[in-house]
Amino acid sequence: MQTVHALDPLRSATARLRANGTLALVPTMGALHEGHLTLVREARRRADAVAVSIFVNPLQFGANEDLDAYPRVLERDARLLEEEGVDLLWAPQVSAMYPDGFATSIGVSGVSEGLCGAARPGHFDGVATVVAKLFNQVRPDMAFFGEKDWQQLAVIRRMARDLDFTRPHVTAIHGVPIVREADGLAMSSRNAYLSANERAWAATLPAAMKAAIARIEGGEAPSSALAALADELAAAGFGPIDYAQLCDAASLAPLDAPIAAPMRLLVAARLGTTRLIDNMAVSA
Ligand code: AMP
Repeated sequence: MQTVHALDPLRSATARLRANGTLALVPTMGALHEGHLTLVREARRRADAVAVSIFVNPLQFGANEDLDAYPRVLERDARLLEEEGVDLLWAPQVSAMYPDGFATSIGVSGVSEGLCGAARPGHFDGVATVVAKLFNQVRPDMAFFGEKDWQQLAVIRRMARDLDFTRPHVTAIHGVPIVREADGLAMSSRNAYLSANERAWAATLPAAMKAAIARIEGGEAPSSALAALADELAAAGFGPIDYAQLCDAASLAPLDAPIAAPMRLLVAARLGTTRLIDNMAVSA
């Protein structure tokens, strides 16, 4: 595996890889876990070569968020990626990604506005901007994102279509199902922030979501199922709930009542100082 930190060697490395077949990109912020590695394995299965980016993107963190605390373990991550047979690790410095005078931002309206977009103003502008840059830098044939960040995946699909990344490159954006711990908690680099007690309580989130989905699928009004979900989370020690919302899975429009199209339950809630997000499919 080749590791590069600057644009010039990146361009030569990706040109070499693209000359030999298809190239996949897996964008990450590092502190890799099984969720990330599942994306990498899916990329390896579908493409001839795999590039992984590790970049803790300051643009997608709010002023009072965890940018400084976010775990940075590049050597360990590089070892894991090497073991997975990754061809190229792109690990730019902030100054290489956003040189002095950088002044461009990509905003995706509609799908980025509710849920995490409302709770974290500017977050998805930061995500869309860095992913657009990564697509231009790496020019992959395909890119892989986790359904863990369901809204992010929707924002990136919209951005890629709107900005014509789908022609001539990034022909496919693949979503990969959520990888969970044995107790159901969705894997996340941020789970490392949880104390031992909080880690035990955290599994209440997916369990309560499953229970709420069973109620909705059984015919209960979403508002009452979601109120029970909020009560269960509060009883397990969760703090403010940013949102617990039934949505159209594609447009992310909030739903008061079930529809025939695919639906998704999306939740963001705090446990101590850690913000957890999760989402699950809901059937009509
Ligand atoms: P992050 O490093 O948190 O920015 O995540 C990088 C990519 O890995 C994103 O596309 C995430 O959606 C994906 N990802 C993170 N956690 C998981 C998980 N538990 N299951 C599947 N994909 C994940």
